Amino acid sequence: MGRDVHRKQLTPLERLQLRDALQDRWSEQVRHITLLSLARYGREDADRVALAIGTLTEVSSLDRSIERARARLEELEQAMRRLDDRSYGQCLRCGEPIGFTRLVQTPEETRCGSCPQNAAALPNRADDVSLA
Ligand SMILES: [Zn+2]
Repeated sequence: MGRDVHRKQLTPLERLQLRDALQDRWSEQVRHITLLSLARYGREDADRVALAIGTLTEVSSLDRSIERARARLEELEQAMRRLDDRSYGQCLRCGEPIGFTRLVQTPEETRCGSCPQNAAALPNRADDVSLA
């Protein structure tokens, strides 16, 4: 049993890959927030940004998107801090390893496949303003 758990722990190379993935997503997210903020607050740029993101620029919808994007940025920053303190890759609920495959898909994941996701920590991103 101990051996099974050990096998599912992340290797140093996997940690490195996941750190890169987190840093890439973090940079993307900062860019996303910058563009959304331009659309929200820079009225003379709004039309240009609206074209770039191909979506409506209603203020309330932009505010929701900015809020979600900031929450995701915070999740990514927390994941990077967990990588530094070595608690990264363990389910925050049950303590079991989350698994490399799952982390590659969502490097900021905090739950293993067996634990229910916290609804508050998993906002519906379907209507997010997404930037290609
Ligand atoms: Zn779990």
